[in-house]
Amino acid sequence: MIVAMQEMATEEQIDFVIEVMVEAGVGVHRTTGATQTILAGVGPTATIDLTKFENLPGVLRVHRISSPYKLAGRGFRPEGTVIEFANGVKLGGQQVVVMAGPCSIENEAQIFETAKRVKSAGASFLRGGAYKPRSSPYAFQGMGIPGLKLMYDAARAHDLLVVSEVMEIAQIEPMLPYVDCFQVGARNMQNFNLLRELGVARKPVLLKRGIAATIEELLLSSEYIMSGGNYDVILCERGIRTYETATRNTMDISAIPVVKKFSHLPIVGDPSHGTGHRDMVAPLARAAVAAGADGILVEVHPNADKSASDAAQTLYPDQFEKLMSELRLIAKAVGRTL
Ligand code: PEP
Ligand code: MN
Repeated sequence: MIVAMQEMATEEQIDFVIEVMVEAGVGVHRTTGATQTILAGVGPTATIDLTKFENLPGVLRVHRISSPYKLAGRGFRPEGTVIEFANGVKLGGQQVVVMAGPCSIENEAQIFETAKRVKSAGASFLRGGAYKPRSSPYAFQGMGIPGLKLMYDAARAHDLLVVSEVMEIAQIEPMLPYVDCFQVGARNMQNFNLLRELGVARKPVLLKRGIAATIEELLLSSEYIMSGGNYDVILCERGIRTYETATRNTMDISAIPVVKKFSHLPIVGDPSHGTGHRDMVAPLARAAVAAGADGILVEVHPNADKSASDAAQTLYPDQFEKLMSELRLIAKAVGRTL
């Protein structure tokens, strides 16, 4: 950490800051310039709340140098994390992995037809919510475990893996037999109790970025899962809330190279929630692959306009097929396969 003192800081103020740093277990190296004093702190700064230094008398600014996340940081696994799933699909490696399916599981015909279409287009995962976090309590809340069983059967009938959202700790155990990967939704990115439990669940977790979360907060949330011993975490950029109203969210494509730089964890892009509009899904999916995403999560429904949730952003299977052929070209151009 670096503490920059104000130009008019007194010796007493500087000594007091040094004292507080030392008490926090930080070794202090002082540099006294012509006009300003800089205090460089080395030690357990990841676990210290730096804001408490900002308000000490005479302090101008405080900067963190080392990352506050240890397990999620690139340095923990410089070569990057590759997660291998039951049927040999590897996420985080050469292949761009595609997860596709409806926003919600609605009925047997819908999920089986979706599985057939997304598999023939080249997807590896079937996605679909059995538990839906809806903005309104009166909106469709999902089919629960009976729906998840349908999705599991549809996926296995077409050699697909299953990813589905878990909203609370009590759902982990009943969902376990039917999912290959748990999804933590944007609204639960900071549900720390849920994250801790998933840290001991021993199944990969797709962790979505919260609508108002910084990339650092996303990485700190992944740290909750990893600190329980589960290192199989996949991050997901699904758009954040900004002042822009033309799209449902603002898909932060730059999060992809930022995560790649600071973390070893794989990251996938979700252009469906990232844009909220069907005609914008393909351009942002292409952009995510071009930017280095390890996968794409896309909403697809055989009768997209009649989807029980997120109809406006859901692709028809034909549109998904076309997108897949475009993504194959882009993947090849950036040295990946799909
Ligand atoms: C979803 O994937 O359907 C979903 C609810 O996503 P998010 O948590 O990103 O809103
Ligand atoms: Mn959705």
